[in-house]
Amino acid sequence: MQNPLTTGINTTNAPDANGRFGEFGGSYIPPELQTVMDEVTDAYRQIVQDPAFLTELSDLLHHYVGRPSPVYYAKRLSEAVGGAQIYLKREDLNHTGAHKINHCIGEVLLAKRMGKKKVIAETGAGQHGVALATAAALLGLECDIYMGAVDIKKEAPNVSRMKILGATVVSVERGTKTLKDAVDAAFEAYLEDPVDQIYCIGSVVGPHPFPMMVRDFQAVVGIEARKQIQEMTDALPDAVVACVGGGSNAMGIFSAFLDDKEVKLYGVEPAGKGLDTPLHAATITKGKPGILHGFKSLLLQDESGEALPVYSIASGLDYPGVGPQHSFLHTIGRVIYESATDREAVEAFYGLSRMEGIIPALESSHAVAHAIKLAQSMDKEQVILVNLSGRGDKDIDYVLEHYPLVDYEVNGSNGNGFKEFLAHIKEK
Ligand SMILES: *Cc1c(COP(=O)(O)O)cnc(C)c1O
Repeated sequence: MQNPLTTGINTTNAPDANGRFGEFGGSYIPPELQTVMDEVTDAYRQIVQDPAFLTELSDLLHHYVGRPSPVYYAKRLSEAVGGAQIYLKREDLNHTGAHKINHCIGEVLLAKRMGKKKVIAETGAGQHGVALATAAALLGLECDIYMGAVDIKKEAPNVSRMKILGATVVSVERGTKTLKDAVDAAFEAYLEDPVDQIYCIGSVVGPHPFPMMVRDFQAVVGIEARKQIQEMTDALPDAVVACVGGGSNAMGIFSAFLDDKEVKLYGVEPAGKGLDTPLHAATITKGKPGILHGFKSLLLQDESGEALPVYSIASGLDYPGVGPQHSFLHTIGRVIYESATDREAVEAFYGLSRMEGIIPALESSHAVAHAIKLAQSMDKEQVILVNLSGRGDKDIDYVLEHYPLVDYEVNGSNGNGFKEFLAHIKEK
């Protein structure tokens, strides 16, 4: 297996020594925490050079996560859409069902190398918490997950998973008792004991070195996919599409293609109930430069610079900030940022389920929705590669309850209704 860390890094890609991508990124944290971050950066720079670490990481990605994940040609979907051919990078087939396990294993391995006893993190819907608890169980470290009391009630199955995996779920009772309060509580806990613990951030966000490090741990996705699609089609894809919450799955697949100028890259943000309402989380499309959680990036903020409450049907996408490298890639025009609404995501959710027998996560459904739109404007000879970041098992009850099938006129189990269904998508 190629070295997933060093081969993913190229010139367009790397931040400067201060962790800056153009004007974005960096580190805006109290001095005590800066010392801790500098230690993490040093440790990371060492392990990137350490063959034993890289071998251990590659072995776990292969034998435990199940990498390489396949690239799959979605033939029926492509034919029904009637434009470019759509291929899916199947991160939904990883152990635990999404891409997050890739960076969680990297972070916990690093923690172990640094002699930490415990990994801590916040979680919203519980996806990051479960992935981290899994990696901690695998590598024998303690794990505390900070979670808002409201989210604990809402996300019972993930809370149970974390407990079964041996993590302690710490209920956060302050503020709105949701994700932002959980981040604050986890940061405070980290400051109390930065020697025995390490904070494992769940995306390409936070102070330097996390945007770089999490990206590098996810770069394996793009390295594999670039090779796989070339083997399958004898060429690079015309476009690569990924959903963007914090931006880790998107950076993972994009980084391998940044130097291939002929490959168009599309990041898809959650437009929620619509970009003209307050109920979305389209940070790049609608945000302005600001500082949140220790780094500078585009940010959905009010007049005074406070992060706005955000919304998406996909809880993995509703973050008011975005990874600093995405803000940079937007500024230089290398990546095009689009958005998909809740409704478009649900249509893609049903569409992929019915056309291919793959139930995608609602997060990933945003990428599929944009790929369907994009394919219609392209030729049959062209190829779109979609990063299918996770599976939709977690979303099935919610979707059936709030977006019943009858609304979509997708009746019958044997192909009836598919044409009408896609015609309906096309009309818009
Ligand atoms: C968490 C999550 C996301 C969003 O996170 P990124 O850092 O933007 O990748 C996307 N898809 C799935 C399946 C997730 O669980």
